[in-house]
Amino acid sequence: MIGGGAAGLFCAIEAGKRGRKVVVLEHAERIGKKIAISGGGRCNFTNLNTTPDNFISDNPRFCKSALARYTPADFISLVEKHGIAYHEKKLGQLFCDGSSQRIIEMLLTEASEAGVEIRCSTTVGGVTRSEPPALAGGSSARRPFQVGTDTGTFVSESLVVATGGLSIAPLGATDFGYRLAHQFGLTIREPWPALVPFTLSRETLRELATLSGISTDAAVSCQGQQFRENILITHRGLSGPAILQISSYWRPGVSININLLPDQDALELLREQQSKEVTLANFLSQFLPRRFAQAWCGLNFPSQPLKRYTPGGLAAIAQKLNNWEVVPSGTEGYKKAEVTAGGIATGELSSQTMAVRNVPGLYFIGEVVDVTGQLGGYNFQWAWASGYAAGQSV
Ligand SMILES: Cc1cc2nc3c(=O)[nH]c(=O)nc-3n(C[C@H](O)[C@H](O)[C@H](O)COP(=O)(O)OP(=O)(O)OC[C@H]3O[C@@H](n4cnc5c(N)ncnc54)[C@H](O)[C@@H]3O)c2cc1C
Repeated sequence: MIGGGAAGLFCAIEAGKRGRKVVVLEHAERIGKKIAISGGGRCNFTNLNTTPDNFISDNPRFCKSALARYTPADFISLVEKHGIAYHEKKLGQLFCDGSSQRIIEMLLTEASEAGVEIRCSTTVGGVTRSEPPALAGGSSARRPFQVGTDTGTFVSESLVVATGGLSIAPLGATDFGYRLAHQFGLTIREPWPALVPFTLSRETLRELATLSGISTDAAVSCQGQQFRENILITHRGLSGPAILQISSYWRPGVSININLLPDQDALELLREQQSKEVTLANFLSQFLPRRFAQAWCGLNFPSQPLKRYTPGGLAAIAQKLNNWEVVPSGTEGYKKAEVTAGGIATGELSSQTMAVRNVPGLYFIGEVVDVTGQLGGYNFQWAWASGYAAGQSV
Protein backbone atom coordinates (compact mmCIF):
# COMPACT_ATOMS: atom_id res chain seq x y z
CA MET A 1 0.00 0.00 0.00
CA ILE A 2 1.48 3.36 -0.94
CA GLY A 3 -0.05 6.23 1.05
CA GLY A 4 -1.26 6.24 4.64
CA GLY A 5 -4.24 8.55 4.23
CA ALA A 6 -7.93 7.78 4.58
CA ALA A 7 -8.24 5.44 1.59
CA GLY A 8 -4.92 3.61 2.08
CA LEU A 9 -5.50 2.92 5.77
CA PHE A 10 -9.04 1.74 5.19
CA CYS A 11 -8.01 -0.60 2.40
CA ALA A 12 -5.13 -1.92 4.52
CA ILE A 13 -7.52 -2.69 7.39
CA GLU A 14 -9.94 -4.54 5.14
CA ALA A 15 -7.18 -6.54 3.45
CA GLY A 16 -5.58 -7.28 6.83
CA LYS A 17 -8.92 -8.58 8.16
CA ARG A 18 -8.93 -11.06 5.27
CA GLY A 19 -5.58 -12.36 6.43
CA ARG A 20 -3.48 -10.58 3.83
CA LYS A 21 -0.03 -9.42 4.86
CA VAL A 22 -0.15 -5.64 4.44
CA VAL A 23 2.53 -2.98 4.67
CA VAL A 24 1.53 0.70 4.39
CA LEU A 25 4.32 2.93 3.09
CA GLU A 26 3.84 6.58 4.02
CA HIS A 27 6.44 9.22 3.27
CA ALA A 28 5.25 11.68 5.93
CA GLU A 29 6.36 11.23 9.53
CA ARG A 30 2.81 10.30 10.56
CA ILE A 31 -0.31 8.95 8.89
CA GLY A 32 -3.60 10.75 8.19
CA LYS A 33 -2.44 14.36 8.16
CA LYS A 34 -5.47 15.45 6.11
CA ILE A 35 -7.83 13.61 8.43
CA ALA A 36 -6.29 15.55 11.33
CA ILE A 37 -7.06 18.99 9.89
CA SER A 38 -10.27 18.02 8.09
CA GLY A 39 -13.60 19.60 8.93
CA GLY A 40 -11.90 22.36 10.88
CA GLY A 41 -10.29 19.74 13.17
CA ARG A 42 -13.51 17.76 13.71
CA CYS A 43 -13.46 15.61 10.54
CA ASN A 44 -16.63 15.65 8.48
CA PHE A 45 -16.22 11.88 8.07
CA THR A 46 -19.29 11.10 5.94
CA ASN A 47 -22.58 12.43 4.63
CA LEU A 48 -25.91 10.75 5.33
CA ASN A 49 -27.24 11.78 1.92
CA THR A 50 -24.43 10.26 -0.17
CA THR A 51 -25.46 9.31 -3.71
CA PRO A 52 -23.41 9.01 -6.92
CA ASP A 53 -24.79 12.46 -7.85
CA ASN A 54 -22.52 14.00 -5.22
CA PHE A 55 -19.43 13.06 -7.21
CA ILE A 56 -17.70 14.54 -10.25
CA SER A 57 -16.16 12.09 -12.68
CA ASP A 58 -15.87 11.59 -16.40
CA ASN A 59 -18.00 8.49 -15.77
CA PRO A 60 -20.60 9.45 -13.14
CA ARG A 61 -21.71 5.81 -12.78
CA PHE A 62 -18.26 4.49 -11.85
CA CYS A 63 -18.54 5.22 -8.11
CA LYS A 64 -21.96 3.56 -7.79
CA SER A 65 -20.89 0.03 -6.99
CA ALA A 66 -18.29 0.90 -4.34
CA LEU A 67 -20.60 3.44 -2.67
CA ALA A 68 -23.38 0.84 -2.53
CA ARG A 69 -21.16 -1.79 -0.94
CA TYR A 70 -19.74 0.47 1.77
CA THR A 71 -22.28 3.05 2.87
CA PRO A 72 -22.31 5.95 5.34
CA ALA A 73 -24.26 3.65 7.71
CA ASP A 74 -21.36 1.15 7.62
CA PHE A 75 -18.84 3.82 8.58
CA ILE A 76 -21.18 5.20 11.26
CA SER A 77 -21.37 1.74 12.89
CA LEU A 78 -17.57 1.63 12.96
CA VAL A 79 -17.44 5.09 14.55
CA GLU A 80 -20.06 4.00 17.11
CA LYS A 81 -18.20 0.75 17.83
CA HIS A 82 -15.25 2.94 18.86
CA GLY A 83 -17.45 5.13 21.05
CA ILE A 84 -16.75 8.28 19.04
CA ALA A 85 -19.41 10.93 19.63
CA TYR A 86 -20.63 12.73 16.52
CA HIS A 87 -23.35 15.05 15.32
CA GLU A 88 -25.00 16.18 12.12
CA LYS A 89 -23.97 19.77 11.50
CA LYS A 90 -26.18 20.45 8.47
CA LEU A 91 -27.22 18.85 5.18
CA GLY A 92 -26.38 15.32 6.34
CA GLN A 93 -22.78 16.24 7.22
CA LEU A 94 -21.49 14.18 10.16
CA PHE A 95 -18.68 15.60 12.31
CA CYS A 96 -16.93 14.33 15.44
CA ASP A 97 -18.07 16.11 18.60
CA GLY A 98 -14.41 16.18 19.60
CA SER A 99 -11.18 16.07 17.64
CA SER A 100 -10.52 14.42 14.24
CA GLN A 101 -7.74 12.64 16.09
CA ARG A 102 -10.39 10.16 17.29
CA ILE A 103 -10.89 8.97 13.69
CA ILE A 104 -7.13 8.55 13.25
CA GLU A 105 -6.92 6.59 16.53
CA MET A 106 -9.84 4.43 15.37
CA LEU A 107 -8.06 3.62 12.11
CA LEU A 108 -4.81 2.88 13.93
CA THR A 109 -6.58 0.54 16.36
CA GLU A 110 -8.36 -1.28 13.54
CA ALA A 111 -5.10 -1.50 11.57
CA SER A 112 -3.24 -2.93 14.54
CA GLU A 113 -6.01 -5.51 15.17
CA ALA A 114 -5.87 -6.50 11.49
CA GLY A 115 -2.10 -6.99 11.70
CA VAL A 116 -1.28 -4.12 9.33
CA GLU A 117 2.28 -2.85 9.41
CA ILE A 118 2.60 0.92 8.98
CA ARG A 119 5.93 2.41 7.96
CA CYS A 120 6.06 6.19 8.12
CA SER A 121 8.95 8.37 6.91
CA THR A 122 9.37 5.93 4.03
CA THR A 123 9.69 7.54 0.62
CA VAL A 124 8.92 5.39 -2.37
CA GLY A 125 11.41 5.94 -5.15
CA GLY A 126 10.02 3.73 -7.87
CA VAL A 127 8.12 0.60 -8.73
CA THR A 128 9.27 -2.17 -11.04
CA ARG A 129 8.01 -5.65 -11.77
CA SER A 130 10.19 -8.69 -11.43
CA GLU A 131 9.96 -11.97 -13.31
CA PRO A 132 7.24 -14.24 -11.96
CA PRO A 133 8.30 -17.20 -9.84
CA ALA A 134 8.08 -20.43 -11.83
CA LEU A 135 5.36 -22.79 -10.63
CA ALA A 136 5.33 -26.56 -10.78
CA GLY A 137 4.02 -27.74 -14.14
CA GLY A 138 5.65 -24.92 -16.09
CA SER A 139 2.99 -22.26 -15.41
CA SER A 140 3.97 -18.96 -13.84
CA ALA A 141 2.46 -16.86 -11.06
CA ARG A 142 1.65 -13.14 -11.26
CA ARG A 143 4.71 -10.90 -11.67
CA PRO A 144 5.46 -9.38 -8.25
CA PHE A 145 5.90 -5.63 -7.73
CA GLN A 146 9.21 -4.36 -6.40
CA VAL A 147 8.75 -1.14 -4.50
CA GLY A 148 12.02 0.68 -3.94
CA THR A 149 12.13 2.97 -0.92
CA ASP A 150 14.82 4.85 1.00
CA THR A 151 14.58 2.15 3.68
CA GLY A 152 14.74 -0.90 1.44
CA THR A 153 12.85 -2.76 -1.26
CA PHE A 154 9.46 -4.37 -0.70
CA VAL A 155 8.23 -7.17 -2.91
CA SER A 156 4.50 -7.73 -3.15
CA GLU A 157 1.90 -9.63 -5.11
CA SER A 158 -0.45 -6.65 -5.17
CA LEU A 159 0.16 -2.93 -5.02
CA VAL A 160 -2.47 -0.39 -3.98
CA VAL A 161 -1.80 3.25 -4.81
CA ALA A 162 -3.54 5.59 -2.37
CA THR A 163 -1.32 8.64 -2.66
CA GLY A 164 -4.15 11.17 -2.97
CA GLY A 165 -4.20 14.29 -5.12
CA LEU A 166 -2.05 17.39 -5.48
CA SER A 167 -3.81 19.55 -2.89
CA ILE A 168 -1.76 21.06 -0.09
CA ALA A 169 1.80 19.80 -0.54
CA PRO A 170 2.84 20.60 3.07
CA LEU A 171 0.40 17.85 4.15
CA GLY A 172 2.24 15.27 2.05
CA ALA A 173 0.59 15.61 -1.36
CA THR A 174 2.67 14.44 -4.32
CA ASP A 175 2.10 13.58 -7.97
CA PHE A 176 3.41 10.06 -7.34
CA GLY A 177 0.12 8.32 -8.18
CA TYR A 178 -0.16 10.07 -11.52
CA ARG A 179 3.48 9.36 -12.37
CA LEU A 180 3.06 5.68 -11.56
CA ALA A 181 -0.11 5.52 -13.64
CA HIS A 182 1.84 7.11 -16.49
CA GLN A 183 4.62 4.53 -16.06
CA PHE A 184 2.06 1.74 -16.50
CA GLY A 185 0.58 3.45 -19.57
CA LEU A 186 -2.73 4.39 -17.93
CA THR A 187 -4.87 7.31 -19.06
CA ILE A 188 -5.14 10.22 -16.65
CA ARG A 189 -7.88 12.82 -16.74
CA GLU A 190 -5.95 16.08 -16.37
CA PRO A 191 -6.24 17.06 -12.67
CA TRP A 192 -7.57 20.45 -11.51
CA PRO A 193 -7.91 22.10 -8.10
CA ALA A 194 -11.45 21.73 -6.72
CA LEU A 195 -13.32 22.95 -3.63
CA VAL A 196 -11.16 26.04 -3.85
CA PRO A 197 -11.71 29.81 -3.45
CA PHE A 198 -11.84 32.00 -6.55
CA THR A 199 -9.50 34.90 -7.20
CA LEU A 200 -10.80 38.05 -8.90
CA SER A 201 -9.16 40.65 -11.10
CA ARG A 202 -7.52 43.58 -9.33
CA GLU A 203 -10.21 45.88 -10.71
CA THR A 204 -13.09 43.75 -9.38
CA LEU A 205 -11.32 43.37 -6.05
CA ARG A 206 -10.98 47.12 -5.75
CA GLU A 207 -14.72 47.46 -6.42
CA LEU A 208 -15.59 44.77 -3.88
CA ALA A 209 -13.16 45.98 -1.20
CA THR A 210 -15.98 47.38 0.97
CA LEU A 211 -17.69 43.96 0.97
CA SER A 212 -14.60 42.08 2.12
CA GLY A 213 -15.19 39.85 5.14
CA ILE A 214 -18.98 39.75 4.69
CA SER A 215 -20.85 36.55 4.01
CA THR A 216 -24.40 36.09 2.82
CA ASP A 217 -26.72 33.28 1.77
CA ALA A 218 -26.83 32.92 -2.03
CA ALA A 219 -27.52 30.51 -4.85
CA VAL A 220 -24.45 30.17 -7.04
CA SER A 221 -24.58 28.49 -10.42
CA CYS A 222 -22.19 27.51 -13.19
CA GLN A 223 -22.31 24.96 -16.01
CA GLY A 224 -25.76 23.68 -15.05
CA GLN A 225 -24.93 23.14 -11.36
CA GLN A 226 -26.33 25.20 -8.51
CA PHE A 227 -25.51 25.40 -4.79
CA ARG A 228 -27.40 27.28 -2.12
CA GLU A 229 -25.22 28.18 0.87
CA ASN A 230 -23.15 31.10 2.12
CA ILE A 231 -20.71 33.02 -0.03
CA LEU A 232 -17.88 35.02 1.53
CA ILE A 233 -16.18 38.00 -0.06
CA THR A 234 -12.49 37.98 0.82
CA HIS A 235 -9.63 40.38 0.18
CA ARG A 236 -8.46 38.03 -2.61
CA GLY A 237 -11.77 37.00 -4.15
CA LEU A 238 -14.72 34.77 -3.33
CA SER A 239 -14.99 31.91 -0.88
CA GLY A 240 -17.56 30.27 1.41
CA PRO A 241 -19.26 26.88 0.96
CA ALA A 242 -21.39 27.77 -2.10
CA ILE A 243 -18.30 29.11 -3.89
CA LEU A 244 -16.13 26.11 -2.98
CA GLN A 245 -18.85 23.79 -4.28
CA ILE A 246 -19.22 25.57 -7.62
CA SER A 247 -15.44 25.88 -8.09
CA SER A 248 -15.26 22.13 -8.80
CA TYR A 249 -17.42 22.63 -11.89
CA TRP A 250 -15.83 25.88 -13.06
CA ARG A 251 -13.40 26.19 -15.96
CA PRO A 252 -11.12 29.18 -16.72
CA GLY A 253 -12.90 31.96 -18.61
CA VAL A 254 -16.38 30.81 -17.60
CA SER A 255 -18.62 33.12 -15.54
CA ILE A 256 -20.50 32.19 -12.38
CA ASN A 257 -23.95 33.48 -11.56
CA ILE A 258 -24.74 34.62 -8.02
CA ASN A 259 -28.35 35.04 -6.93
CA LEU A 260 -28.27 37.19 -3.79
CA LEU A 261 -32.02 36.84 -3.19
CA PRO A 262 -32.61 33.17 -4.03
CA ASP A 263 -36.05 33.11 -2.41
CA GLN A 264 -37.33 36.27 -4.07
CA ASP A 265 -38.12 37.64 -7.48
CA ALA A 266 -36.22 40.88 -6.94
CA LEU A 267 -38.09 42.80 -9.64
CA GLU A 268 -41.49 41.90 -8.20
CA LEU A 269 -40.27 42.80 -4.73
CA LEU A 270 -38.95 46.20 -5.80
CA ARG A 271 -42.02 47.00 -7.90
CA GLU A 272 -44.29 46.34 -4.91
CA GLN A 273 -42.33 48.93 -2.94
CA GLN A 274 -41.62 51.44 -5.70
CA SER A 275 -43.73 54.23 -4.19
CA LYS A 276 -42.08 53.95 -0.73
CA GLU A 277 -39.78 56.38 1.07
CA VAL A 278 -37.54 53.57 2.33
CA THR A 279 -34.02 53.69 0.89
CA LEU A 280 -32.74 50.82 -1.24
CA ALA A 281 -30.07 49.90 1.32
CA ASN A 282 -32.56 49.83 4.20
CA PHE A 283 -35.03 47.84 2.14
CA LEU A 284 -32.40 45.27 1.13
CA SER A 285 -31.25 44.98 4.74
CA GLN A 286 -34.43 42.97 5.34
CA PHE A 287 -33.01 40.27 3.09
CA LEU A 288 -29.23 40.72 3.18
CA PRO A 289 -26.79 41.40 6.04
CA ARG A 290 -27.04 45.18 6.71
CA ARG A 291 -23.34 45.84 6.04
CA PHE A 292 -23.54 43.86 2.84
CA ALA A 293 -26.65 45.72 1.67
CA GLN A 294 -25.04 49.09 2.35
CA ALA A 295 -21.74 48.24 0.69
CA TRP A 296 -23.48 46.54 -2.24
CA CYS A 297 -25.58 49.64 -2.91
CA GLY A 298 -22.53 51.89 -2.56
CA LEU A 299 -20.79 49.73 -5.13
CA ASN A 300 -23.60 49.33 -7.62
CA PHE A 301 -26.54 51.69 -7.15
CA PRO A 302 -26.12 54.67 -4.77
CA SER A 303 -28.92 54.20 -2.22
CA GLN A 304 -31.88 56.57 -2.36
CA PRO A 305 -35.59 56.27 -1.53
CA LEU A 306 -37.13 53.55 -3.71
CA LYS A 307 -39.68 55.96 -5.18
CA ARG A 308 -36.90 57.94 -6.86
CA TYR A 309 -35.73 55.06 -9.07
CA THR A 310 -37.11 54.83 -12.60
CA PRO A 311 -38.69 51.51 -13.70
CA GLY A 312 -35.54 50.89 -15.78
CA GLY A 313 -33.38 51.59 -12.73
CA LEU A 314 -35.35 49.11 -10.61
CA ALA A 315 -35.05 46.49 -13.35
CA ALA A 316 -31.26 46.96 -13.43
CA ILE A 317 -31.07 46.60 -9.63
CA ALA A 318 -33.25 43.49 -9.72
CA GLN A 319 -31.14 41.96 -12.46
CA LYS A 320 -27.97 42.42 -10.44
CA LEU A 321 -29.62 41.01 -7.28
CA ASN A 322 -30.94 37.85 -8.92
CA ASN A 323 -28.27 37.42 -11.63
CA TRP A 324 -24.91 38.80 -10.59
CA GLU A 325 -22.45 37.56 -13.22
CA VAL A 326 -18.85 37.29 -12.06
CA VAL A 327 -15.91 36.02 -14.11
CA PRO A 328 -13.26 34.73 -11.69
CA SER A 329 -9.71 35.41 -12.82
CA GLY A 330 -8.65 32.02 -11.44
CA THR A 331 -8.59 29.94 -8.28
CA GLU A 332 -6.26 29.83 -5.29
CA GLY A 333 -4.89 26.60 -6.79
CA TYR A 334 -3.58 23.48 -5.11
CA LYS A 335 -2.21 25.37 -2.13
CA LYS A 336 -5.79 26.08 -0.97
CA ALA A 337 -7.84 23.43 -2.80
CA GLU A 338 -9.52 20.94 -0.49
CA VAL A 339 -9.34 18.28 -3.19
CA THR A 340 -7.95 17.49 -6.63
CA ALA A 341 -10.48 16.65 -9.32
CA GLY A 342 -9.57 14.50 -12.32
CA GLY A 343 -7.03 11.71 -11.93
CA ILE A 344 -6.68 8.08 -12.98
CA ALA A 345 -9.30 7.54 -15.71
CA THR A 346 -12.08 5.32 -14.40
CA GLY A 347 -12.09 3.37 -17.66
CA GLU A 348 -8.74 1.89 -16.58
CA LEU A 349 -10.23 0.43 -13.37
CA SER A 350 -12.77 -2.17 -12.35
CA SER A 351 -15.60 -0.37 -10.54
CA GLN A 352 -16.04 -3.48 -8.36
CA THR A 353 -12.46 -3.75 -7.08
CA MET A 354 -10.53 -0.64 -8.20
CA ALA A 355 -8.04 -3.00 -9.88
CA VAL A 356 -6.32 -1.79 -13.04
CA ARG A 357 -7.88 -3.84 -15.83
CA ASN A 358 -4.66 -4.42 -17.74
CA VAL A 359 -2.14 -4.66 -14.91
CA PRO A 360 -3.02 -7.59 -12.63
CA GLY A 361 -2.38 -6.80 -8.98
CA LEU A 362 -2.29 -3.00 -9.34
CA TYR A 363 -5.05 -0.89 -7.71
CA PHE A 364 -5.80 2.84 -7.40
CA ILE A 365 -8.13 4.15 -4.69
CA GLY A 366 -9.24 7.42 -3.09
CA GLU A 367 -8.63 10.90 -4.38
CA VAL A 368 -6.01 9.90 -6.98
CA VAL A 369 -8.87 8.37 -9.01
CA ASP A 370 -11.10 10.53 -11.23
CA VAL A 371 -13.89 10.58 -8.65
CA THR A 372 -14.25 13.79 -6.63
CA GLY A 373 -16.85 14.46 -4.00
CA GLN A 374 -18.71 17.66 -3.33
CA LEU A 375 -18.11 19.49 -0.06
CA GLY A 376 -19.68 17.85 2.97
CA GLY A 377 -18.03 14.53 3.89
CA TYR A 378 -18.37 12.92 0.46
CA ASN A 379 -14.62 12.76 -0.20
CA PHE A 380 -14.00 10.70 2.91
CA GLN A 381 -16.94 8.46 2.05
CA TRP A 382 -15.30 7.83 -1.33
CA ALA A 383 -11.97 7.12 0.40
CA TRP A 384 -13.63 4.57 2.74
CA ALA A 385 -15.77 3.01 -0.03
CA SER A 386 -13.02 2.70 -2.64
CA GLY A 387 -10.62 1.44 0.04
CA TYR A 388 -13.17 -1.14 1.13
CA ALA A 389 -13.74 -2.30 -2.47
CA ALA A 390 -10.02 -2.85 -3.09
CA GLY A 391 -9.55 -4.32 0.38
CA GLN A 392 -11.95 -7.18 -0.47
CA SER A 393 -10.01 -8.05 -3.61
CA VAL A 394 -6.35 -7.28 -3.09
C1 LIG B 1 -8.03 21.26 4.59
C2 LIG B 1 -8.81 20.06 4.13
C3 LIG B 1 -9.97 19.71 4.80
C4 LIG B 1 -10.73 18.61 4.36
N1 LIG B 1 -11.86 18.29 5.04
C5 LIG B 1 -12.62 17.24 4.60
C6 LIG B 1 -13.78 16.85 5.32
O1 LIG B 1 -14.08 17.36 6.40
N2 LIG B 1 -14.53 15.84 4.80
C7 LIG B 1 -14.18 15.19 3.63
O2 LIG B 1 -14.89 14.28 3.20
N3 LIG B 1 -13.05 15.51 2.98
C8 LIG B 1 -12.27 16.51 3.44
N4 LIG B 1 -11.12 16.82 2.77
C9 LIG B 1 -10.72 15.99 1.62
C10 LIG B 1 -10.12 14.68 2.15
O3 LIG B 1 -9.15 14.98 3.13
C11 LIG B 1 -9.47 13.88 1.03
O4 LIG B 1 -10.34 13.75 -0.06
C12 LIG B 1 -9.06 12.50 1.51
O5 LIG B 1 -8.13 12.64 2.55
C13 LIG B 1 -8.47 11.67 0.37
O6 LIG B 1 -7.98 10.48 0.91
P1 LIG B 1 -6.78 9.72 0.20
O7 LIG B 1 -6.40 8.64 1.13
O8 LIG B 1 -7.13 9.39 -1.19
O9 LIG B 1 -5.61 10.79 0.11
P2 LIG B 1 -4.81 11.50 1.32
O10 LIG B 1 -5.64 11.54 2.54
O11 LIG B 1 -4.30 12.76 0.74
O12 LIG B 1 -3.61 10.49 1.60
C14 LIG B 1 -2.56 10.30 0.69
C15 LIG B 1 -1.36 9.88 1.50
O13 LIG B 1 -0.32 9.47 0.62
C16 LIG B 1 0.92 9.99 1.08
N5 LIG B 1 1.83 10.03 -0.06
C17 LIG B 1 1.76 10.84 -1.15
N6 LIG B 1 2.78 10.56 -1.97
C18 LIG B 1 3.50 9.55 -1.40
C19 LIG B 1 4.66 8.83 -1.79
N7 LIG B 1 5.29 9.07 -2.95
N8 LIG B 1 5.12 7.85 -0.96
C20 LIG B 1 4.49 7.58 0.20
N9 LIG B 1 3.39 8.24 0.61
C21 LIG B 1 2.89 9.21 -0.19
C22 LIG B 1 0.53 11.35 1.65
O14 LIG B 1 1.51 11.80 2.56
C23 LIG B 1 -0.80 11.04 2.32
O15 LIG B 1 -0.64 10.60 3.65
C24 LIG B 1 -10.31 17.87 3.22
C25 LIG B 1 -9.12 18.20 2.58
C26 LIG B 1 -8.36 19.29 3.03
C27 LIG B 1 -7.08 19.60 2.32
